[in-house]
Amino acid sequence: MTVSANYDAIAQCNKCGFCHVACPIFRATGHESGVARGRLALLRGIIEERVEWNEDMEDPLFTCLGCGACTTNCFGSVPTADLVLNARAEYLDNVGKKPAHRLLFEHLLPYPKRLHAAAKAVALGKNSGASKVANALGLLRIFGRDLPKAEGIVEKLPMSSFRGTIKPGQYQGQGEELKIGYFVGCGVDVIQVEAGRATFESLKKIGKSVTVLDNCCCGLPPWSYGDVGNTTLLAEKNLKVFTAADLDVIVTDCSSCASFLKKYPKVFQDDPQNQELADQKLPMIKDVVEFLYATEHGTVEHKRSSEEVSSYHDSHAAVGTEAVQEVVSGDRPAVVTYHDPCHAVRGQGIKSEGREILKSLPNVEFKEMAEADWCCGGAGSYALTHYDLSQKVLDRKMKNLKNTGADILVTSCPACMIQLGWGIRKHGLKTRIFHISEMTAYKETVPQ
Ligand code: SF4
Ligand code: SF4
Repeated sequence: MTVSANYDAIAQCNKCGFCHVACPIFRATGHESGVARGRLALLRGIIEERVEWNEDMEDPLFTCLGCGACTTNCFGSVPTADLVLNARAEYLDNVGKKPAHRLLFEHLLPYPKRLHAAAKAVALGKNSGASKVANALGLLRIFGRDLPKAEGIVEKLPMSSFRGTIKPGQYQGQGEELKIGYFVGCGVDVIQVEAGRATFESLKKIGKSVTVLDNCCCGLPPWSYGDVGNTTLLAEKNLKVFTAADLDVIVTDCSSCASFLKKYPKVFQDDPQNQELADQKLPMIKDVVEFLYATEHGTVEHKRSSEEVSSYHDSHAAVGTEAVQEVVSGDRPAVVTYHDPCHAVRGQGIKSEGREILKSLPNVEFKEMAEADWCCGGAGSYALTHYDLSQKVLDRKMKNLKNTGADILVTSCPACMIQLGWGIRKHGLKTRIFHISEMTAYKETVPQ
């Protein structure tokens, strides 16, 4: 869809400026070009041919986090993030794609095995310090101007991916009915492997079977970049995977993936056959936060005896769960706070569920963080492409985190976990960060 096709939506902006207070980028820079009103004025300028497509537009278009906070603060609910995404697609048609994005979107993300091999190579380089050499030689610069600066964001990479150890296929669960498909997002697969293990174990407790899907990337990275062609390619591959398996529900522990999988009908708006298929699958897609909450509060009775608990310890206790136990087993309740990923709170309307899960955990005191639903500045690969700006957004989040005095920060998006973990290290905080699945897996270890 071209920018011109969105003219009516863009023209809905009455220039009131109420979006300014909610925009993390405007709050960090104070620049009008970085807030919804300024970005919409630019798009209007393009349509009215007062502005021409050229590389100067890269910053106003690509510095938007896509967090959607402006829309929640706008009386007309102007969907700026979506409008900016559409404009990115047209920008790429006019100005061109970068080689690093082509490599990522066309040659890595559609093929999980290639992604695993690339992640292993990066892990080898990173864990041995070779990436510092590459950085010093300027080799990382080919991936974007800010990547060398951002190199420290990921502390260490696991040598084996989640699906390198738990292969795609069907696994028996302890539940009675539900056939669960586990959609493994790229971030969990190659970086937050412990979160993946915790999710897998929790799902096995609930489902009659858990199928670790052989899915590829959900498509959000190319979609956010404006690359509709490669998004469609990924979404089509995943739809085939969903159709081939006999499933009742498809759960993912990445809120960004969940939010985007729920958008598939929109991705296929020009392809009625795939759109119908995506519509059929839509009710099956669940963010692990909503799924675990619904399980605890609804259909599946799930109490654990001490025998079950010790057998859980023997067979399943994961490093992530043990790490949670370490923090939570002190003399006083552990103070736990929550960060809402943009794709959970605004992308799917999931807000209270994660908090309710945390409040139900033993030896935990929940404390709300100010601006918990503000973007952390991670926004997929944003921290790699706009490092300085993302750090300003992150610093604000860290100030709010510090004020809670929390022992544990919990969230449900691997990209947020990476960015928040980096912020915690950078600011020298003692807070530990865990995925919500690691917290619920911890609950599995406590007799009830
Ligand atoms: S709040 Fe909405 S209408 Fe007002 S300036 Fe921002 S985008 Fe425009
Ligand atoms: S989507 Fe987020 S970063 Fe982009 S203009 Fe709106 S509030 Fe600002």
